Amino acid sequence: MEWNYQGDRGPDNWKTICSAFYQAETESLQSPIALDDNQTNLTSSQHSLRFDYNRTLFESSFFNHTVHLSPKTNEKVNFVTFNHKKYFLEDLHFHLPSEHEINQESFPLEFHLVHRSVKNDLLVVGVTVLPSERPMNTVLAVIDEKALHPRIAERGLTVPIELKRLLPEKKQFYHYTGSLTTPPTSGPVEWIVFRHQTYMRQGLLQAFKRNVGKTNRPLQPRSGRPIYLSDC
Ligand SMILES: [Zn+2]
Repeated sequence: MEWNYQGDRGPDNWKTICSAFYQAETESLQSPIALDDNQTNLTSSQHSLRFDYNRTLFESSFFNHTVHLSPKTNEKVNFVTFNHKKYFLEDLHFHLPSEHEINQESFPLEFHLVHRSVKNDLLVVGVTVLPSERPMNTVLAVIDEKALHPRIAERGLTVPIELKRLLPEKKQFYHYTGSLTTPPTSGPVEWIVFRHQTYMRQGLLQAFKRNVGKTNRPLQPRSGRPIYLSDC
């Protein structure tokens, strides 16, 4: 079903588009939410998180209004282990501006690393991004600006990514349970959102703005659910 980020088929109306979207939005706690240090459950904050990420070839595509990169290999070489359970990376995509808010701050871009366990449970890692004039220390540098154009991205360009370098240097993270942020916004999804940002050079950020544009779902109610703050 066709949906959008504004107009009649914008986020406020997603649940009216079809019964599957309605069900997804009403039957699970939704994402994104505002994350705030003052509202985290510090008492039970020791969640274990480990990244096993390697340099991998990704293939680009363009759907759900944004650029996606998916691993070209079917081998499960990239995964996170969260509370002793493995989730395998299957997709990397971008939202502008950020979807999550961190300590009342919004950021120009947020990317999502979507993982799935063998039992089909979802875990998404969210990383917020700031512009920087210094040489980029993340591998997003390898994405050619032209490659972000929808018609070029959907041709399936091959992009090598050193995944570890996409993550912020400081590894403090929030954890909460929510949903996908695009229709059907089904859950549960285990969310890991880094408290610190990573950096992208201004030119690349501008290219994202030109080619992808506004692709963020508004904040959803927290509805009393716990938010944990932990260190990797
Ligand atoms: Zn996303």
